[in-house]
Amino acid sequence: MFAIAIDGPAGAGKSSVAKAAARELGFTYVDTGAIYRTIALYMLEKGVDIEDPAAVTKALPGVEVSLEYGEAGQRTLLGGRDVSEKIRTQEVSMATSRWVAHIPEVRAFLVEVQRELARKNNVVMDGRDIGTVILPKAQLKVFLTASPEERARRRTLQLAEAGEPADFEEVLREVVQRDRQDSAQLDLLPTDGVILDTTGLGFEQVVEKLTSMARERMENEGGGGE
Ligand code: C5P
Repeated sequence: MFAIAIDGPAGAGKSSVAKAAARELGFTYVDTGAIYRTIALYMLEKGVDIEDPAAVTKALPGVEVSLEYGEAGQRTLLGGRDVSEKIRTQEVSMATSRWVAHIPEVRAFLVEVQRELARKNNVVMDGRDIGTVILPKAQLKVFLTASPEERARRRTLQLAEAGEPADFEEVLREVVQRDRQDSAQLDLLPTDGVILDTTGLGFEQVVEKLTSMARERMENEGGGGE
């Protein structure tokens, strides 16, 4: 199988770039952030105190998260219920990056879930620790980043397009806060990875860079990894 690991800060465009590259290469796109978000949603819905790591850990075995792939891309299921939209709220984003993603038991619980997906499929997997912890043997590791201002600008545009206009300065503050909250994972750069700074680059250019790097690696590998 061939694995492409994409890590980087919130708002760098990882998921849209990963999705487009996966489509072009015929790979499965795995959004690992969605899995972390689903755990946070479960805890919030069950009334578990997310600020209490012991309580979250105790509730973990009840979380049944699965991913489904269809025409519409990845759907995220919690106990069989489609929560793909519900996990995108601001409340869930903050609960995930501020509390849930820091609990070592949560991270350990998810290692196998993520590795299993990469054993069965050629994947483009995006997250924060994919190239370092989850798939250290990924054939291509990319750290996708952009300046905080650029990421906030893109996010503000996205929100406006979604009919939820937001203030740029406020979005920028959230971007910076999420960087701080995710720094434990983001500071661990794989030594064999490629840094792709997308500041000033168009979406198509980034996808093109990524797919050509992947094709080059695949040719060098003679068509497959392990
Ligand atoms: O990628 P996304 O922004 O949806 O991820 C939500 C949060 O989940 C991140 O801010 C981060 O705290 C956490 N996360 C993580 N490791 C991953 C993916 C996401 O810690 N591999």
